[in-house]
Amino acid sequence: MIHQRDVIGRLPVYKPGRPAAPGAVKLSSNENPFPPLPSVVDAVVAGLDGIQRYPDLGAAELTRRLAEHYDVDPGEIALGAGSVEVAGQLIHASAGDGDEVIFAWRSFEAYPILVQVAGATPVPVPLTADERHDLDAMAAAITPRTRLVFVCNPNNPTGATVTAEELTAFLAKVPAEVLVVVDEAYVHFDDDPRSANGLEFFRNHPNVAVLHTFSKAYGLAGLRVGYAIAPAAVAANLRRVGVPFAVSDLAQRAAIASLDAESELELRIREIVAERQRVTAALRDGGWRLVDSFGNFLWLRTGDDTERVDGVLHAHGVVARAFAGEGVRVTIGSPEANDRFLAAAADALATAP
Ligand code: PMP
Repeated sequence: MIHQRDVIGRLPVYKPGRPAAPGAVKLSSNENPFPPLPSVVDAVVAGLDGIQRYPDLGAAELTRRLAEHYDVDPGEIALGAGSVEVAGQLIHASAGDGDEVIFAWRSFEAYPILVQVAGATPVPVPLTADERHDLDAMAAAITPRTRLVFVCNPNNPTGATVTAEELTAFLAKVPAEVLVVVDEAYVHFDDDPRSANGLEFFRNHPNVAVLHTFSKAYGLAGLRVGYAIAPAAVAANLRRVGVPFAVSDLAQRAAIASLDAESELELRIREIVAERQRVTAALRDGGWRLVDSFGNFLWLRTGDDTERVDGVLHAHGVVARAFAGEGVRVTIGSPEANDRFLAAAADALATAP
């Protein structure tokens, strides 16, 4: 037998949303329903004749643009092939054998996998009954071995936010040596006025980092670009940990073109948020109970009925993300896709046992 770490063989393989069959709508991966902007496509095409070369290792131009955009130092930015890679970098830079990483659960399913790959111990803390981070319980879970805490705001898959007040109270209980990472993958869809603004916390707390992605609101999931805004010493370590050249030149170009197109993207974001509000209201009118979501997805807490509901959605050609025994997460798609989902959801309720 070839030596392999036991923990690796026991890990679940990261499951992406199921691919949609022909004619079905894929609402399983929190992707952006809009096609890429022409200006972004042009930027990618312009880079094609350079693909025999390695990309700019430091992604200097993109880093400079992000630093300008957020008014932070370029040394406080670290990029990766999607924010999931940066989440892994944050864990590897902070936690090893026997160290602990705290996160809410259920939340982004990569957290426990990445923590175990690093040899550290995941410490999942159950959400409250109303699907929110239980920050009191998360603070109580801190031990001398805690190295990192993920706060997912808005939370995937429930869509619930962490308020500024809650995060302030939480940070007062976190030792200064423990890094708190606010994962804001869905921040652009978050119109909850009470929600914590990760960047403000980054500016006011020396042990806070923020995780952002170009995959969701910017619609670049296929090109893989994400980044942390982190204390300079942490960001420098992320660059040491990161896979060299992980962010391709095409991805860097697309990200820069997306920053240039913010106002167009903002209109799309508003449409997605309006659709989220419409679908939420229609579900409630139809008898579904669900919490407010501030992401580009909704969470149906279907419990033991999850597999049946997922089956009904599937029969209607709607591919959602089901978590057995817990619930179904459905991405907000195009208005037509959302209507298809609403019809399927109505059917699922009408046929409930
Ligand atoms: N954080 C959260 C909360 C997510 O839901 C996701 C994607 N599902 C990611 C990070 C990673 O996204 P990406 O690697 O595409 O940036």
